[in-house]
Amino acid sequence: MGEVETFSVRFWGVRGSIACPGAETVRYGGNTSCLEVSCGDRRLIFDAGTGLRPLGDAMAANGAPVDGDIFLTHTHLDHIYGLPFFQPFFVARNRFRIWAGHLKPDYALKTVVCQMMMSPLFPVPPEVFAADIEYRDFAAGETLQPAAGIAIKTALLDHPDRATGYRVEFNGRSLCYITDIGHVAGQRDAALVDFVSGSDMMIYDSTYTDEEFPQFSNFGHSTWQEGMRIADAANVDRLVIFHHDPSHDDTFMDAVAVEAAAARPGTVVAREGMELSPGSPASGDSD
Ligand SMILES: [Zn+2]
Ligand SMILES: [Zn+2]
Repeated sequence: MGEVETFSVRFWGVRGSIACPGAETVRYGGNTSCLEVSCGDRRLIFDAGTGLRPLGDAMAANGAPVDGDIFLTHTHLDHIYGLPFFQPFFVARNRFRIWAGHLKPDYALKTVVCQMMMSPLFPVPPEVFAADIEYRDFAAGETLQPAAGIAIKTALLDHPDRATGYRVEFNGRSLCYITDIGHVAGQRDAALVDFVSGSDMMIYDSTYTDEEFPQFSNFGHSTWQEGMRIADAANVDRLVIFHHDPSHDDTFMDAVAVEAAAARPGTVVAREGMELSPGSPASGDSD
C-alpha cells in the first residue's frame, strides 16, 4: 500500500469520564478520549483527553515541526484535559488549529480553554503555549476542509452541553467518530443513521451495556448494542466500541469483545495503541 494513500486511526485514549490507570485496565488502557487519524501525510487529532499527552510525547520525540488540527467533540473535561500537557504546544515553530462545533453561540472555545487553565484550578494560563494556536468555533452541521482531499462532515449530537459528531472522508473511504451521545431506548436516531450511512467505520460511545442502560439512561451516553443497531440500520461496515466506562476492567471488556464480535462480525473494542484502517479487513490491523 502506498504511503500517500494511508487512512488509519490510532487510539491514544479510549475511556470516558475519568482516567483509570491500574492493573485491571492495563490491556485496554486507562487514558481518556484521544484519536490520531492519518490521512496520507496529514495528521488529524480528535479529542484532547489524557491520551493526548503520550501522543504529544511521541510527536515531540519525532522532532519535526507540526502544522496540525485538533477537533474536539465537546469540552467536557475528559475530552480536553490533555491540552495543557501536550508537548508540541510548547514548541514555537509549531502551528495548531483547535476546532469545536458545539459551543456557538453561547461560548467561544478560547474562553472555555482559558477557564479550564485559570487559577486556582490550574497554575498557568494558555499564554504559556509557545506554538501558534488558533481557536476555531464552527456550528455543528458545517462541512470542514482542513486540507485538500479531506472533507469532514459534522453533526450535532444529543449530549448534555451538546457534542459534535465527525465523519472524515478521505481517498474514497469514511470514518465516523460519534461520542458522546445518548439515546432513548427503543427509538432510532434517524438523523444519526443518515449521518453515518454507508461509512466504512463508526467509533461509537459504548459507555454502557443494554443491561446497565436503564440506570443511566439520562447520562448522555449510549451502549454497544445501540451502536450495533445504528450500524445495521445505516449499513456501516465496521463498529468500534469506544468511551469505555472506567469501572469496566479488562475482564469485563474481554467479555464485551467476544459477545460483540459474535453478534456482528468485525466489531472490535478499542484499545490504547490499536491502529485500524477504515475499509480494510480485520487481518490488516496492527497494534
Ligand atoms: Zn466523554
Ligand atoms: Zn461528555
